[in-house]
Amino acid sequence: IAELSEAVLTFEQRAVREKKALIYNENDDIIPVMGDKNRLRQVFVNIIDNALKYSDEGGSVTISAIRLENGFVDIVVKDTGIGIHEEDIHKLFKEFQRLDLETNRNIEGTGLGLAITHNLVSMMGGKMEVKSVYGEGTTFTVCLTQKMISGEPIGEFDKNYAKRCRFTN
Ligand code: ATP
Ligand code: MG
Repeated sequence: IAELSEAVLTFEQRAVREKKALIYNENDDIIPVMGDKNRLRQVFVNIIDNALKYSDEGGSVTISAIRLENGFVDIVVKDTGIGIHEEDIHKLFKEFQRLDLETNRNIEGTGLGLAITHNLVSMMGGKMEVKSVYGEGTTFTVCLTQKMISGEPIGEFDKNYAKRCRFTN
C-alpha cells in the first residue's frame, strides 16, 4: 500500500536515532486501495508514532500489510514496547486520555492521536483492534474495508498508479 510505505519512510531516521528497529514487511507487490490518500497516511503515521514513542531503546516495531481472503487488507503494527493494562484498553480511543501516567511522565502527547485515528478509520468503514500484554508490547490492527482497486501487482509504478487511481484523486 503506497500510503503505508510513505508513512513508514517518514519514521526511518527517527527509529535509527532512537535505536529502535523499524521492520517493514513490504508486500512484493503494491496493493492499491480506494480512499483518501492523506487520511490513510495520517492513520498509519499516528499508530507508528505511538509504537515508537511507547517503546524503549533496543525495541522493535514491525509493520505489515496482510491481504485477507475476502479481498480486504489488514495493517498490523506490532511493538515490543511498554504495553497497555487490560483495564485501560477501553480508554484508548477517548479524547485526551493518556494511560499509565507514572511510567509515561517524560513522554509528551495530548491523548488525541488515537481518538482522531479511530474516528477516521470508522468514517472509512474500517475497524481498529488492539491486543496488548503489559510489559511486553502492543499490536494495533487496522482493518480496512474499502475495495482493492485490483489484486494485480501494479507493475510500472508511476504509469499504472496514475491510471488506476484517477478516480480517487
Ligand atoms: P498524541 O495526541 O500526541 O498522539 P498520545 O500519544 O498521548 O498523544 P494517543 O495516541 O491517543 O495519545 O494514545 C493515548 C494513550 O494510549 C497514550 O498516552 C499511551 O498511554 C497509550 N498508548 C498508545 N499507543 C500505545 C502503544 N503502542 N503502547 C503503549 N501505550 C500506548
Ligand atoms: Mg499518539
